[in-house]
Amino acid sequence: MAKKWVYLFGELDQAQKYVGGDWQNALGLLGGKGANLAEMTRIGLPVPPGLTVTSEACNAYLANGNKFPEGMWDQELEALHTIEGLAGKKFGDSANPLLVSCRSGAKFSMPGMMDTVLNIGLTDATVEGLAKLTENPRFAWDAYRRLIQGFGAVVLDIPDEAFEEALDAAKKQAGAKEDVDLTAGQLKALAGEYRKIVQKHKGFDFPQNPLEQLSLATEAVFRSWNGRKAVSYRRHEEIPDNLGTAVNIVTMVFGNMGSTSGTGVAFTRNPSTGEKGVWGEYLINAQGEDVVAGIRTPKKVATMADELPEAYKQFLEICAILEKHYKNMQDIEFTIERGRLWMLQTRNGKRTSAAEIKIAVDMVGENLIDRKTALTRVTPAQVNTLLHPQFDANAKKAAQAAGKFLAKGVNASPGAAVGQVYFDADLCEAKAKEGQAVIMVRPFTKPDDVHGMIAAKGILTSEGGATSHAAVVARQFGKPCVVGASSMRIDFDARKLTSNGVVVKEGEWISVDGATGEAFVGQIPTVAAKFEEQKDLVTLLQWADGVAAEPGARSGPAGYPSRGLMVWANADYPSDARRARNFGAQGIGLCRTEHMFFEQSRLPIVQRMILAKTSEERTEALNELLPFQRSDFDGLFEAMTGLPVIIRLIDPPLHEFLPDEEALQEEVTTMKVLGKTEGLAEKETVLAAVKGLHESNPMMGLRGIRLSIVMPEIVQMQVRALFEAACDVAARGFDPHPEVMIPLTGTVKELEYIQPKLEVIAKQVMQEKGRQLDYKFGTMIEIPRAAVTAGEIARLAVFFSFGTNDLTQMTYGYSRDDAERNFLLKYVEEGILPFNPFQTIDRDGVGRLMDICIQEGRKSRPGLEVGICGEHGGDPNSIEWCHLIGNNYVSCSPFRVPVARLAAAQAAIKHAPKK
Ligand code: PEP
Ligand code: MG
Repeated sequence: MAKKWVYLFGELDQAQKYVGGDWQNALGLLGGKGANLAEMTRIGLPVPPGLTVTSEACNAYLANGNKFPEGMWDQELEALHTIEGLAGKKFGDSANPLLVSCRSGAKFSMPGMMDTVLNIGLTDATVEGLAKLTENPRFAWDAYRRLIQGFGAVVLDIPDEAFEEALDAAKKQAGAKEDVDLTAGQLKALAGEYRKIVQKHKGFDFPQNPLEQLSLATEAVFRSWNGRKAVSYRRHEEIPDNLGTAVNIVTMVFGNMGSTSGTGVAFTRNPSTGEKGVWGEYLINAQGEDVVAGIRTPKKVATMADELPEAYKQFLEICAILEKHYKNMQDIEFTIERGRLWMLQTRNGKRTSAAEIKIAVDMVGENLIDRKTALTRVTPAQVNTLLHPQFDANAKKAAQAAGKFLAKGVNASPGAAVGQVYFDADLCEAKAKEGQAVIMVRPFTKPDDVHGMIAAKGILTSEGGATSHAAVVARQFGKPCVVGASSMRIDFDARKLTSNGVVVKEGEWISVDGATGEAFVGQIPTVAAKFEEQKDLVTLLQWADGVAAEPGARSGPAGYPSRGLMVWANADYPSDARRARNFGAQGIGLCRTEHMFFEQSRLPIVQRMILAKTSEERTEALNELLPFQRSDFDGLFEAMTGLPVIIRLIDPPLHEFLPDEEALQEEVTTMKVLGKTEGLAEKETVLAAVKGLHESNPMMGLRGIRLSIVMPEIVQMQVRALFEAACDVAARGFDPHPEVMIPLTGTVKELEYIQPKLEVIAKQVMQEKGRQLDYKFGTMIEIPRAAVTAGEIARLAVFFSFGTNDLTQMTYGYSRDDAERNFLLKYVEEGILPFNPFQTIDRDGVGRLMDICIQEGRKSRPGLEVGICGEHGGDPNSIEWCHLIGNNYVSCSPFRVPVARLAAAQAAIKHAPKK
């Protein structure tokens, strides 16, 4: 049998059979518009008779040097003949003419990107017939002149202005204010003018053969697939070029046949808020383009209840049927011709994130969908947008158009921030104290910039990547942050920044969009968000936790958790912990204790401890630090009562706590040159210590467990503080669950050396305090050697937590602080890496190590608790991987907890064991 290129709306079963039954494939073959018109026909809704020429025909036409594939045109004619029968009209018949529209429609909706021609079939002969038949010559001539205009612009590529000018001239001459004020005679004259325009531009007359009109219009729609607009839309939306568009030939129905006719577009629910109830606009006595064009102001759809009550009642019934059928909010186009309602389109409506979530939750309540469907419908990105203040989309577009674009970098932490620019942390803090909204702009940030970051509304850096200090800290505090905006130069002397030809002086306003990685000059308005007030989101995420917690959510060998992932949070301070708990965190997976050492009141003591010449001096300084640490931990345990809290022992190399070597050297030299002696000796001592601690590769140097072994006094103090705090908190009636985490282990021998010494202290403290608490000692897995020798390491470690920031750094051999600046983004651009491995786990390499690690670890210690606390713990794709390899939990910054809860449930649903 010859290939079938054309399907009537009534032939959906056949089309679906051809593509193997799958609805997505049917959408591909017939396009969204065609497939849904056919589907509405199948369920008995009023759809004007029509046919669809397939996207396969489009692809064949384009591949064939713009020639219809063999048999296609004959099939189109044959189907048209059937439509004539269904409509009771004849194409080209001057007494009873059938008119059709020719509409594009690809698999994915590309609004306004491709072509449509209305009123095909009107000629000098049929227009008279239509006038008689409708007893409405004005209507007939208006339809004809619209055809010539539409056909001229779309099919014949004549600039639309030529027609618009003629229309304006006609209105002027007639003294008409609006199009509708033109009479039949005036429109007839206008059609004549339009014909002259065609002749002048093309050298031939407007085709008087309706079949020629149809054939040329079909070709034009095919070609519009490769039009400039359509191609750039596809690039932006990542729609493949090889899909092609289908062409729909649909019997015309007219909304402009008087006061009992009309046309409109509507959503079955409010696409902005998700509120239930039909929402849209319509116009009486108008054609579709009039509603969209904004020439007349459309009315709210609800007012149809008064103007066209019968049609409105039927319309509401159809909306309900469509929602029940598609189980989703629909975006509908309709026309009423002399009181009779026709459906011209339905599709799943586009909506805001807030509407998506409300609709999903409401539809579960209405028994339209189940919880799991609701959970898969909402995307993690949508949850994310609800948690951070966002820029008003139109205002951002306007800023872009007004030339206010400043820079683009890595979208490190989502949210919108507006503030005045300051170039150093102290100034940021001071200005914030004065009540200014501040944006901190730096080349990069360091731990001693944190107070400025806390004070700032947002952060913008010219260097660094997704796991740079600025990015990690900003996410932790939920601050919008863009890093690595490399077009930006900061001139600290002149106190200004320059980027893309724009200059911003210190104190001037900018707006930073952490979701897109963009920055703009000036103040763009924002809209705010509060988690606990977002009832639908809270409900959805409770369902997510339920799904992830289902026993049997995962299959795996013995010793693996059978429930899905829990979501914990990385939090250093009690306020972070409370926020994380409010967001639904079920534990703390990482408290970076060294962050407490950087606080201004503590840093001098820490420095004294580092510079100590004797063990006594060091112990003295540590004794001063102990109460600080104890009170930090106390607050954390109290905030997380009943839930596990993992405290990581000190990790970074000590030089990070001392002043910068270069700056110090300069200071000492200047003092010497100027002969200043006061304080010189102290500075020289510090400089000597800094030099002594200098390492060529500090990230691979004396840090983590190595530091604990070389200088055990620090971690001994930390463990004491930790257990004293836990006992104190328990004495106050709370329920602390301390877990002590040792960082950067590479060999079990390291653990064997230090862990028992620390456990002794833990026991000692509990004995002193007269309390017995449940506690755990475990380790981070950050070094490939640890991952592949996990069986040995698990002999001592009761839990593992993947530090995938370091594990990625060490597996690739890419410096996490420099790679993005130097080559990594280029690697991604060139396709050498599929994505940034510091944002999303590289499953083949780093991920494989994690998998091996868990398997080896659980062989040696069945039931070993495994988590992740690197930045990947909040990334949905990485969360899916953690589900697959059998993690117990993921831990991420508090603001990413809601996203992670959804991602964990989605992983459980997607990979549910087959029953
Ligand atoms: C890690 O390496 O993934 C980690 C969580 O530790 P840090 O980022 O503090 O090195
Ligand atoms: Mg680490």
